[in-house]
Amino acid sequence: MTKGTPSMGLKHHVLHIRCRRCGRTSYRVDKHYCSACGYGKTSKLKKYSWQTHTLQRNRRF
Ligand SMILES: [Zn+2]
Repeated sequence: MTKGTPSMGLKHHVLHIRCRRCGRTSYRVDKHYCSACGYGKTSKLKKYSWQTHTLQRNRRF
């Protein structure tokens, strides 16, 4: 396997889709939970004090 531009054509699998709760493209299709806010895993919003990006609820775009 080569790295760089020729191998980029193989990257067609979808791992994350847009999350319904936080709006980030962090919702795991196979595991059915969001890696950013924990949607599908916990009813509360997954949040850490050290995180740099704030999660916005019900963000539509
Ligand atoms: Zn989320």
